[in-house]
Amino acid sequence: MNDERPVHAPGGEHPSVAERAIADLVQAARGIRARAYAPYSHFPVGAALLCADGTVITGVNVENASSPLACCAERAAVYAAVAAGQQVFRAIAVVGGERPLTPCGGCRQVLAEFGDLTVVAATPDPAVPVRSFRLSALLPESFGKEDVGV
Ligand SMILES: [Zn+2]
Repeated sequence: MNDERPVHAPGGEHPSVAERAIADLVQAARGIRARAYAPYSHFPVGAALLCADGTVITGVNVENASSPLACCAERAAVYAAVAAGQQVFRAIAVVGGERPLTPCGGCRQVLAEFGDLTVVAATPDPAVPVRSFRLSALLPESFGKEDVGV
């Protein structure tokens, strides 16, 4: 985390998150992906959330025989992070299939609750370029706390 060079990835940027931190985050998402519970879709996803204090908290998708009850890796990571006492996030890396994944609409909304973090879309293959976005670019004009008077 000592490397403070800014990220200049295609598709977006977030200069406050160092390249080294992003690389570590992607590795964490790749690593945790093997723990996904995806017996129905066979589409394991790993996510790694970078908290403001440098802590990385991971999540995986967890499916269910009652399919609407499945939970995406991104939300699993957010929920675990909040339970661990974290509420300020800088970035999330997501690793799924053969092309870089961005979070689904539901996860974008859940992430937006915690600010305009960097979203890093990667694949299990380190040879595939990582894409980086601001969450506000993925969910413009989002519904938020101010809309409910908080
Ligand atoms: Zn999702």
